[in-house]
Amino acid sequence: MDTVIIGNGILALTIAFRLSRAAGEKDTISIIGKRERTGSATLAAGAMLNSFAEIEADSLDNELDLYRFELSHLATKMWPKFEQELITAAGSCLPSGCRNCQGFQGGGCVDCGTYIVNNTAADDLDDENFDAILNALREFNEPHELISPRDIPNYLPDQRYRATRALYIFNEGWFNPRLMIEKLEAILANSPQVNFINTNVAKLLKENETVSAVELEDGSAIAGENFILAAGAAVSDLVNNSALGIDIQRIFYGVGVSVEIRSPDFPHKKCIRTPNRGLACGIYSVPYITADCNDHILLGASNFISPTPYPYGRITSVESLLKAGMEQINRNFYRADLVRVNVGWRPTSQDTYPMIGRTSIQNLIIVSATKRDGFHMSPLISEYVVAMLNGQPVDKRFDVFAPERSPIRPLTREQAINKAVRHQTSAAYQHGFSPSKSRMPEQVGKMFRDELERLHDQVGAYDWGIPPEMLDMYRYGHAKP
Ligand SMILES: Cc1cc2nc3c(=O)[nH]c(=O)nc-3n(C[C@H](O)[C@H](O)[C@H](O)COP(=O)(O)OP(=O)(O)OC[C@H]3O[C@@H](n4cnc5c(N)ncnc54)[C@H](O)[C@@H]3O)c2cc1C
Repeated sequence: MDTVIIGNGILALTIAFRLSRAAGEKDTISIIGKRERTGSATLAAGAMLNSFAEIEADSLDNELDLYRFELSHLATKMWPKFEQELITAAGSCLPSGCRNCQGFQGGGCVDCGTYIVNNTAADDLDDENFDAILNALREFNEPHELISPRDIPNYLPDQRYRATRALYIFNEGWFNPRLMIEKLEAILANSPQVNFINTNVAKLLKENETVSAVELEDGSAIAGENFILAAGAAVSDLVNNSALGIDIQRIFYGVGVSVEIRSPDFPHKKCIRTPNRGLACGIYSVPYITADCNDHILLGASNFISPTPYPYGRITSVESLLKAGMEQINRNFYRADLVRVNVGWRPTSQDTYPMIGRTSIQNLIIVSATKRDGFHMSPLISEYVVAMLNGQPVDKRFDVFAPERSPIRPLTREQAINKAVRHQTSAAYQHGFSPSKSRMPEQVGKMFRDELERLHDQVGAYDWGIPPEMLDMYRYGHAKP
């Protein structure tokens, strides 16, 4: 079987890895994508393996979101074995940064242990989300401990922003994603069936109701039998350029900035993060480890949704992350070194759910829209996609993420507006909103609500709600009502 994979992020490479394990002598796997990976979400990711830490007050309220959580929890459990498979497959070709690696036992680019801090830097949405995390940890019997914030190593926030509560989740960890990509590339380069093509795809070519080839940017074509479109946030643009006759909802560019710093006096050993807040994931710091260095830290992450690729990190995103890192994690970061600013595009669908599965073109699978947890989900997604490719059964419930579905709309208008008011208020506080001592918070809340009601009327959203992250895309006509 000749398989063509379009894209070279974590999903493309983990799918290629699983395929290559079972490949026969005559099989070929082509992985197409520029090595520089402009806008790659994977390279910008904190690469946290969070399920519980991502829970919000309404995260487990409907069957679909519960299923999504079940998958996320399953992915957490798959990682140790998957990582061991990668290390074994790499053998002597492990990159030098991985040379002390013992997988989840330590010494490599992965470790476990996440502190969640409940501080007062934003508003009480943080408290609600912290409670939701704690309740879920208890309900699902997940190992955790409520601890004093003062016992968190290297947690030295500004007095005004100190946490009043904290908890420790034992099994939620993180990777250094750059090292993971290096490792996967080294493994795949050793496989005789795999061929890396260092350029981008311009379009997919269709003949007789199947995809016959892809056209590269230089005009040449690569033919194949099966095609996996895993080009992250660029998937919609590629489908639109290709006249395939399929209709998928738009995937937007969730532009996220993360900042790598070097802090030799305050090296971190564990991840420290807030709950999700203000339409994003709050502030976090993760140790950015390799065998050669243990004093780099990644601060993340910002988010805004754009209809087009956005190459640069906005000054405000960098400023907010550095300020939040110093105020809410460790005030001594003021004398850390600035190593790198990453900009990655989280592939985010209009309904904000993943888009993974076969299309009505029988030999085309799309794998995208993993938004904020594609790194974490990659062992599971790669397993399911390879099963789809081989015609093996996959959990029927997974069909809900089929690429040509209509947008999923689990929120009522009222729920969506309430949620958006909460998140917009939280974002305002996070960015310095300081109301006068009058009815101002209520007045601002009412202003948000009135505008949201008008927007829902304007797009005809009477019996459904706009996902809060997508407000601007509806406001400016980029999302189809
Ligand atoms: C700041 C930030 C923090 C994040 N934190 C986390 C986290 O803690 N945990 C987590 O699980 N997830 C996190 N994510 C999300 C995660 O990074 C993504 O869900 C995941 O990386 C998506 O993987 P991908 O392979 O689909 O996309 P990408 O990594 O974006 O890869 C797509 C690749 O396709 C290539 N490409 C684009 N166009 C073409 C073309 N025309 N032809 C060929 N190739 C093309 C691109 O260059 C790119 O390399 C974060 C994302 C960001 C931006």
